[in-house]
Amino acid sequence: MTTQSCPSCARAHQVSTLREGAEVPCACGAHFIVRASRAGVAPTHEAFSGLEATSVASPAVALPGYELERVLGRGGMGEVWLARQMSLGRKVAVKVLPPRLAKDPEFVRRFDKEATALATLNHPNIVQIIDRGVAGEHYFFVMEFVEGRSLREVVRELSPSEALRVALQVARALECAHDKDIIHRDLKPENVLLDARGHVKVADFGLAGIRRADSTALQLTATSVAMGTLNYMAPEQRRDAKSVDGRADLFSLGVVLYEMLTREVPVGRFRLPSERVPGLDPRVDTVVERLLENEPGARFASAHAVCEALEALVTNVSSSSPPSSGALQAVPVGMGARDRWYSGWRPVRTALAVLGAVVLVFWGLRSVLDGPIVLPWGQNSLVLGGRPVRVVPGPKVWPVNTNADLFVSSVVDELSDGRVRVGLDFVVGQENVNAHAGTWTLVDGQLHAMQGGNDASGGQLIPRAYLAHRYFSSDDFSAEAVMSAKPLGRGYPAEEPDAQHYAELSFRVTGLQVSIYAIPDVGMRLSWRYATVDGREVVGNSSQEVADLVQDETPMPQGPFRVKLQLKKKKNGVDVEAFINGAEEPFAHKFLEGFQGRSAKVAMGCRNLECTFDDVVVRGLQAQKGEDQPMAETRQE
Ligand code: ADP
Ligand code: MG
Repeated sequence: MTTQSCPSCARAHQVSTLREGAEVPCACGAHFIVRASRAGVAPTHEAFSGLEATSVASPAVALPGYELERVLGRGGMGEVWLARQMSLGRKVAVKVLPPRLAKDPEFVRRFDKEATALATLNHPNIVQIIDRGVAGEHYFFVMEFVEGRSLREVVRELSPSEALRVALQVARALECAHDKDIIHRDLKPENVLLDARGHVKVADFGLAGIRRADSTALQLTATSVAMGTLNYMAPEQRRDAKSVDGRADLFSLGVVLYEMLTREVPVGRFRLPSERVPGLDPRVDTVVERLLENEPGARFASAHAVCEALEALVTNVSSSSPPSSGALQAVPVGMGARDRWYSGWRPVRTALAVLGAVVLVFWGLRSVLDGPIVLPWGQNSLVLGGRPVRVVPGPKVWPVNTNADLFVSSVVDELSDGRVRVGLDFVVGQENVNAHAGTWTLVDGQLHAMQGGNDASGGQLIPRAYLAHRYFSSDDFSAEAVMSAKPLGRGYPAEEPDAQHYAELSFRVTGLQVSIYAIPDVGMRLSWRYATVDGREVVGNSSQEVADLVQDETPMPQGPFRVKLQLKKKKNGVDVEAFINGAEEPFAHKFLEGFQGRSAKVAMGCRNLECTFDDVVVRGLQAQKGEDQPMAETRQE
């Protein structure tokens, strides 16, 4: 026997865990489901709603193709498990829905219809849905696993500028979803995940809508009260959950932003954030007030408009770091969230706070000595020491770094000679692409990249997207792509004097690289860098080696063009050839001595440009991750 509380009225009930899954009526009229008490799994949400039937998936629940490892959390719609996708050997998060839902034909209809729409959502700030299915009585969604924590854990610890950065990323996620007529309906700090680099990923888009038929108005209210989500819900959504539009999500975003700024949720007649946070730019009030309007018509007309308003307030983080609470900093993996927070990061946070204070005092003093000052981090608009600071409007913010997984469609064929052919289509699918610096998105079946500036988000700047998990041998390899590159356009901050500009297709990991570079106004290049077995570094490119050039210079074509990079083993090394637009003769070639037997990944790069990639086809011998490249996680520019 164990004690379980009714989620609606908190009365304690003696229940037998042997009756796991059984429905228990409570005197208050609600029902709840008996849960198994599992050792080692702390219940994260005690406030289950009986009306939403808690799933009690045990590791015995078998989902074909996935190995469930442990529960990451429980919410209003089942349990989220950390799992391994066996086919690709990667970690994923699996949301297992309560068995009761499977019995509801309306739910099943919605699940089938809407899961497809949700899977088309592909955005760096949205948790990607990569699969869905049903195993026995359990419907499940497979999503990208976000290693980090939820905004719930830090929502009341952020600095105003961090709060605005989080809100902007959430607004960008909403903008993308609303463009596809997908409304979140359950935006709250629990559904805003922060990855290890502090980037925002919004989870559970549209899932509340799939559940909707399952909930009468009464059930919805009971659930929401129990889960505390009513606080985040727009007034019109509380009245009638069925007929809301994207502006309901904007209200929820307003609540989250208010809570981040003031450490409280706004209820009734709330005070403006600037009345509660000394020194806060009053323009933030205007945004918050418009998000929290009772009438949808009085709110911002679209998430796009919210993005614009927030962009005007957000610190330009790429030029230098604003004072930070440190709450968005990376967390070491493998510890409990609370432990991570209190043990590891408190000294770092304190140090950052002290540093921030020193910077503020320094600039404050300068303002006394020199008159009005321009804050060093561009578009900031904080008021220091109560004195308004004149802020020169900064230029556009550099494209945000994706630093996340994209999932694209691929066709993999085993060729008769032991090689494989991997064809990539840039629509949503199951092939994992690791995108680093720059904004990487899937647009009209192409991989689209915009990268500018030197913001490396704390690590090395990697303006590339890698085909993940797949290593190829340098003995026999070719990669083709259709690509294009053009300038970023006006309005961005000035580039550093020796800024590089290129679109790239390459065979690379840390420590070795063979690339085709397309450089606007300069031309096409083949470039290489690797170490020989005796430790000698070999670096060069086709422009330096005129002797090796077949043609003098190959200009970069204006529109999209096709490139092909080919590696073939010869006696003591590898012959590399670079082709353009199907030409029979390479535009550059090079014999790389001692380069045989290396393994690397396929990468697409984009530096200080807007680039597209399409029709990528890779042929080659698949290889193991290189033994001689211990840091094979490709951290090098
Ligand atoms: P809720 O969002 O109501 O808290 P969920 O069932 O959606 O409930 O999720 C429960 C918890 O599981 C979340 O709060 C979060 O901590 C974790 N979680 C959900 N999705 C993911 C994911 N894709 N990656 C990592 N953790 C996740
Ligand atoms: Mg959730």
